[in-house]
Amino acid sequence: MFIDTRRLQDGRAIEAEVCIIGGGVAGITLALELEKRGIGTCLIESGGFKPDNATRDLYRGESVGIDYRFADGCRSRYLGGSSNCWGGWCRPMEDSDFEPREWVQDSGWPFQKKDLQPYYERTHSRLQIGPNRFDTDFWVDAIGNPEVRKIPFTPSRVIDGISQFSPPARFGKLYREDLAHSRTINVYLYANAVDIETDGAESVRLVRLKTLTGVTATVSAGIIVLAAGGIENARLLLVSHKDRPEGLGNHNDLVGRYFMDHPRLYSGKVRFKPAWLRNKLYDIKHHYQNKAVAAHGTRVAAQFGLTPELRAEERLLNARVCFSSVFPGEDSDVADALIHFRQMLERKEQVERTLVHDMLALARHPVDTAGFIASRYLPAYCLAKYARFQIVAEPLPDPSSRIVLSDQCDRLGLKRVKVDWRIDTPVKRTIDRTLAIVAEDLIRAGVADVDLDPPIEGGEWPSTFEKEGTWHHMGTTRMHDSPKLGVVDRNCRVHGTSNLYLAGSSVFPTGGGNFPTITICALALRLSDHIAEEVGRRRYIPRGPIDKPANESKHYVAT
Ligand SMILES: Cc1cc2nc3c(=O)[nH]c(=O)nc-3n(C[C@H](O)[C@H](O)[C@H](O)COP(=O)(O)OP(=O)(O)OC[C@H]3O[C@@H](n4cnc5c(N)ncnc54)[C@H](O)[C@@H]3O)c2cc1C
Repeated sequence: MFIDTRRLQDGRAIEAEVCIIGGGVAGITLALELEKRGIGTCLIESGGFKPDNATRDLYRGESVGIDYRFADGCRSRYLGGSSNCWGGWCRPMEDSDFEPREWVQDSGWPFQKKDLQPYYERTHSRLQIGPNRFDTDFWVDAIGNPEVRKIPFTPSRVIDGISQFSPPARFGKLYREDLAHSRTINVYLYANAVDIETDGAESVRLVRLKTLTGVTATVSAGIIVLAAGGIENARLLLVSHKDRPEGLGNHNDLVGRYFMDHPRLYSGKVRFKPAWLRNKLYDIKHHYQNKAVAAHGTRVAAQFGLTPELRAEERLLNARVCFSSVFPGEDSDVADALIHFRQMLERKEQVERTLVHDMLALARHPVDTAGFIASRYLPAYCLAKYARFQIVAEPLPDPSSRIVLSDQCDRLGLKRVKVDWRIDTPVKRTIDRTLAIVAEDLIRAGVADVDLDPPIEGGEWPSTFEKEGTWHHMGTTRMHDSPKLGVVDRNCRVHGTSNLYLAGSSVFPTGGGNFPTITICALALRLSDHIAEEVGRRRYIPRGPIDKPANESKHYVAT
């Protein structure tokens, strides 16, 4: 059931067995899993069914580290969260991403990939992706197109693998009916969690809510889960400082630290040999329109990187590389303008750009505009001028890369964030060495001629470094068995509290080289098992449908 919190009487006290703050992939996955166990849940969501400027503004903040965008276009604040604008790339983390590596500070998860594997398997239906296989051989066989081939990399140096594309699953739309008809989940829309209060000891007593129209409410629940995204999870803990000035769960000054995103940039010039020109498997540019690279009803793309052994030998972080064809128009602002149109059609949020700006860009470059459109909708491999590498690197967990509260407040009176994103030498060295080694291997295999850009270690980030990172906000409430090294324990429970949990990529101790959302979903499924056990064991309040407002019809939202 959906409830418009703005229409509730001021001061309402809501009760539930479990309260989940945030209706994105993590929050919705968790709520739907708890429903299967009949656990009464209230899901608190800041936005409604569509984006609106006032709610979106709550995400604004300052970037004080490297020039970085993390608000507009980089997060969505309405039902479904950033699944409203994600690209749908899915690939689980690798075995080695979970292991401690002595050359990567603070690396290692409290469990291994095999422990998460059963949950990864369960993500596939939620995310609407294909069989649980991410090896290139399986998909090349299934695709059955002689032009779609595996590159013969040297197995001891370079490995490749597959990412699957979710359609992409927009959780707010996809699961709206399930949430609407749920007997155990109440979704409170337009409700912002603004404070989490403890009983002075180790339990959360209540969560304070506020709408932008000024209605307030409180939630008491046996278990509280923060699933507000990689930046907001930390912000909410930091602003909840009534009982402890340093913020909730922050007795070891870790909340907000270790902020990570995946640095992404384009580099080099790759000119394929004729026999490889038509192989679209490894080219990011083709994945949207290329039905040739699909099987089992799922589109896929391949990527490559160094073997874990070679990374260990060279003391490098993880990184994934693919090709990105350069088509006409892509060296002017035509491509940006057209991509922006497409994003607007898909309701992505890029509010800082204007339509007039885009129209002018297109009018200035009519030939590029035609070339770019042709390259998107025709079998366009022949139009590509050349390809570049797109490389996405694992960020180094770094306590000085962090989120802190700013002096500015949003309309709800909550301090905004300052994001100080830092990435330095080990990441740059990883990018340089990874590209050098894969280039060498491509030339050796007779796949392409490659001109590398100059190394970036020791210099500034090049202009092809993406200022929004990869929109993967991770690490700010990292997981570790020791409260000295992590905000949450292996079950995602905040150290020092008995009933507060965190869901989402804020708990990742390291970020690997892949996409976070499938791992967010797997961790939410794992957390649901743990919470179900806890609820069963502790029997906080009787199960069943929860909090029916006195005059129900007044508060419901049409679905
Ligand atoms: C343009 C773009 C492309 C992306 N592409 C990919 C991709 O291809 N593959 C991939 O794996 N990942 C991708 N991502 C990242 C992916 O979208 C996120 O990892 C994922 O959506 C995070 O899910 P979440 O539920 O943890 O958080 P979110 O999606 O951020 O959801 C948090 C929810 O909490 C709500 N909320 C926030 N604060 C409060 C509050 N105080 N009170 C109540 N509610 C609150 C928000 O409104 C939101 O609905 C992309 C992201 C973007 C922006």
